[in-house]
Amino acid sequence: MSAIHADQRMGHPYWRELLEDRWRGRLEEVIELSLAYHGAATTPGGPGSVPGQQEARRLLPRAVAARRKLADVEDALGRLATGSFGRCEQCEAAIEPGLLAVAPEARYCARCAGGAGAAAVPVRAENR
Ligand SMILES: [Zn+2]
Repeated sequence: MSAIHADQRMGHPYWRELLEDRWRGRLEEVIELSLAYHGAATTPGGPGSVPGQQEARRLLPRAVAARRKLADVEDALGRLATGSFGRCEQCEAAIEPGLLAVAPEARYCARCAGGAGAAAVPVRAENR
């Protein structure tokens, strides 16, 4: 994390590159999971192919989560464009550069996210 120096001019190409890199990774994840899901859902195992259905059911939540992460990165790119990137959506303080370095799509500062580390990137609605 020490590679990120205190100079955090938001909109700096560094963040864009980091986000685009993550966006690409997330997109690949979404594509992979979606293909696996559709592949499993249409497994030619005869009527009521149980293994295919089970696999599809197992993959679906992962595909949904991957799409949500992709959307989070896209939102962050949007904030970069509007100049609000790096600001906590709750208290409007600057989000710690160290946190942005590991989770550039973070919406909240470590304090508002409720503790360092694990919950750095709060998911929107965890409804199911
Ligand atoms: Zn905050």
